Amino acid sequence: MSFPLRPSQTKIVATVGPACDSREMIRSLILAGVDVFRLNAAHGALEDHTRRLKAIRDAEAELQCSVAVLLDLAGPKIRLGEIPGGSLECHANDRVRFVKGPAASGTGELTTTFPAVLDDLEVGNRVLLADGLVELEVVEVSTEAVICRVVQPGVVRSRQGMHVPGAKLRVRILDEADLAAAAWAARHGVDFVGLSFVRTPEDVSALREHLLQHGSDAQIIAKIEKAEALDRLEEIVAAADGVMVARGDLGVETDIARLAVAQKKIIDAARRHCKPVVVATQMLDSMQHSPLPTRAEVTDVANAVLDGADACMLSGETAIGRFPLESVAMMHRIALAAEEYARSRARDGLPVPQIVSPAREDSITEATAFHAGALATTLDAKLLIVATHSGKTALRISKYRFGMPTVGVASNPTALRRMALYWGIIPLAQAPATESHRLLPFVTRWAMRRNMIAAGDLIVSLRGTGLANDQQNAILVHRVTDTPPTDDGP
Ligand code: PEP
Repeated sequence: MSFPLRPSQTKIVATVGPACDSREMIRSLILAGVDVFRLNAAHGALEDHTRRLKAIRDAEAELQCSVAVLLDLAGPKIRLGEIPGGSLECHANDRVRFVKGPAASGTGELTTTFPAVLDDLEVGNRVLLADGLVELEVVEVSTEAVICRVVQPGVVRSRQGMHVPGAKLRVRILDEADLAAAAWAARHGVDFVGLSFVRTPEDVSALREHLLQHGSDAQIIAKIEKAEALDRLEEIVAAADGVMVARGDLGVETDIARLAVAQKKIIDAARRHCKPVVVATQMLDSMQHSPLPTRAEVTDVANAVLDGADACMLSGETAIGRFPLESVAMMHRIALAAEEYARSRARDGLPVPQIVSPAREDSITEATAFHAGALATTLDAKLLIVATHSGKTALRISKYRFGMPTVGVASNPTALRRMALYWGIIPLAQAPATESHRLLPFVTRWAMRRNMIAAGDLIVSLRGTGLANDQQNAILVHRVTDTPPTDDGP
């Protein structure tokens, strides 16, 4: 098996779990189209993640490619405590007592992993358990207990999630386990850290400070999964390096009927702030058990691509499902089909919603990036090359959605791995990024071997001349000659 002939421009994030954590499987997933692997700190010990990270880095080195790793912090997810017997059947209008102790003692009693939450509950609050399947309403609050009435009956089990939609809870964003996991991410050079249950831009700053203290400039992906985060979306997106539409918890914390609208708003905000956005959860959920997705799932992935998502994420499908490889291959195929449709709309002059106009033409890099892509479009260039120090210029180009194949080169592996998340950017790990006389022949050869370009085609390249600090200030147009360049190459 070799790399997909045509990688999808939309990036694929795959969650690593017992179903896919061998080195061989990771290797196959990369070949099937995975760009970013997510390690979920909410499941598995840090030792498990150390082993998984090694499998990813080994496979990456073997395939000589750049894949990124995202460590997703558990965050202040409020859960039920242990229930005697493991579960409690809640009937309509039953009374359920939340008590503060470590474990429930009597029938109809529940505890929580964050007892402080009980102090913040008010009469009338809704409390959702088991991913929203069971709904309670607070009817009485005292110093010892919070009494709720069962509105939506069902069975709840020990340690299931507990949500209080709309309530402003005084829960610390990072607990001891999150701090330890973030320090682990720093020590292991993880590329992206996911911040769960973000409520404010200060939450993002708290994680950033912690990472910096541990010597890491990992990029922070703010997971939008609370109503409070939607209220302060612009500031949170501005503070973070990227965002995730975390539809699992967002669909419990806010009105599930408004989820598609929230997804579009979050994608729009990410576009305005030029940040990558990942659409997550239940994208191909039925493929946990079936080799084929439902029609609705296929349409959901395609619509996320057409909405302007930079990446789509697989969770249980790859972590614990029976068909991890098939799920990635399917997501890759759906993305290719949706991208082809977006290109055909653009050719027909129809609006392509994800195109963003240059935000700050006063920045030399931003303006040059925009005009390099515009020039490539005008000339119908078949390849765009962007040389970047940190990956920022590649992100700009990515968000402009020019659509032609774009290769990102950088001299440091961190920048290359960041580009793994950026829509439409193919990080080229082996390219001699800083040697301009070798770079063009190298990339030309690489692209010709993959039939991406042929003699007579134009290539546009964007790089820094080194004359203006770190700025990318030089655009070069090159026509591919009959003879493939003989310089060394992949
Ligand atoms: C989500 O809630 O959609 C999500 C991605 O978070 P997690 O998988 O950590 O619950």
